[in-house]
Amino acid sequence: MTTQPINNAYDVIIVGARCAGAATAMLLAALGLRVLVFDKSRFGTDTLSTHALMRPAVLLLHRWGMTDRLDEERTPRIEKTAFVYSDDQKSDTIEIDIKPRNGIDMLYAPRRTVLDRILVEAARDKGADVRHGVQMLDLLRTDSGKVAGVRLRDDSGKVHDVGAGLVIGADGRRSGVARLVGATPYVWGRHTTTCAFGYFEDLPVEGNRWYFRPGMGAGAIPTNHAQTCLFASVPDRFAAGSADDRARAFRRVIEESAPDVAARLSEARLVGKLRFFPGMRGFLRQPWGDGWALVGDAGYMTDPITAHGITNALRDADILTRTIAEGASLAAYQMARDDLSLKFFEISDRVASLDWDIPTVQQYHRMMSQEMAREEEALVTMRDAAASAA
Ligand SMILES: Cc1cc2nc3c(=O)[nH]c(=O)nc-3n(C[C@H](O)[C@H](O)[C@H](O)COP(=O)(O)OP(=O)(O)OC[C@H]3O[C@@H](n4cnc5c(N)ncnc54)[C@H](O)[C@@H]3O)c2cc1C
Repeated sequence: MTTQPINNAYDVIIVGARCAGAATAMLLAALGLRVLVFDKSRFGTDTLSTHALMRPAVLLLHRWGMTDRLDEERTPRIEKTAFVYSDDQKSDTIEIDIKPRNGIDMLYAPRRTVLDRILVEAARDKGADVRHGVQMLDLLRTDSGKVAGVRLRDDSGKVHDVGAGLVIGADGRRSGVARLVGATPYVWGRHTTTCAFGYFEDLPVEGNRWYFRPGMGAGAIPTNHAQTCLFASVPDRFAAGSADDRARAFRRVIEESAPDVAARLSEARLVGKLRFFPGMRGFLRQPWGDGWALVGDAGYMTDPITAHGITNALRDADILTRTIAEGASLAAYQMARDDLSLKFFEISDRVASLDWDIPTVQQYHRMMSQEMAREEEALVTMRDAAASAA
């Protein structure tokens, strides 16, 4: 960790140094910009999130040279995805091999202690000034109201005013930057799920397994340390009650929706505690203005049931950075983000209702798959267009 004083010579300041902020810092620093990125949390810590990555995320990580780092961290390569659908009448499993396309033939689900850390290390390697234990307190503005920097408290408790041409809020779904600039959502989700998850040893699974049953969802994802992340989603059961009540509810959802996993749970060992997410409605916020931009959950949040937030964060880091590199208006960033998000958001919201029958949710999954393929091709096209313009 650098001990240099925070200076006042930055082109860009990024608030939040997890997947959105660290990736944006890495890409902007690689362009030669002077970047400060900071986070109030400590370096390498976990956050409340499972971590399945979809193809567009893996495409970007591969392009950025980071899939080798995931391999070095012994992150399991995921070569299959299974969708298991059941109701009271029948059960139907669809197994899909990850098809080789655009140089990608596997997925990953790295722990956030791995993914966020290696992105931070890459940002630092590219020359970004990265700080942890540093909190944004306020934004600085010019007389005309343009955002011109941040007031922050450093890790020794000292308060500094630090200027920059652009301040990027990568500070998550409860973004303080969004609140301070008045970036209110213009699209809201109608549904939320609550989620419980934990890490289990001796519960091997072959690839990602997603379970859907009217009123509930679950998943089993292989991750680092030879553990399986097991999660359960329902409309409300994990939002209240004692931890014991919620743990019982978690087991019941696994038994009802994923009986093959439940049958092996007694031989598995829960590492640490179950974690609970009480739910939050998704949204798209205005992602830019005079002297500021938002990336990641700060600007666009989807319900965790469709496991797409990290993919969105990396994608939007890529699009925002390209827009800045081209010297284009940040309106172009918003247009591209919304073009790739609005339909997916709508389908994700319908899945989050957990109020569907099996043929309907299967149809939603086909639509989401089409949207993800479109998202992947858009990232390829953008990169090719930038390469031919260079
Ligand atoms: C239960 C659950 C399960 C999920 N599962 C998946 C999944 O399987 N796959 C997937 O793709 N997505 C998943 N998501 C979504 C994913 O967690 C988010 O989309 C992702 O974390 C967004 O990354 P981010 O960098 O934008 O924000 P965050 O990860 O929220 O990071 C924001 C950072 O900003 C920092 N910060 C905030 N305010 C300040 C301040 N004032 N000063 C300094 N620092 C500040 C915070 O400390 C934090 O570290 C899940 C979410 C939940 C809740």
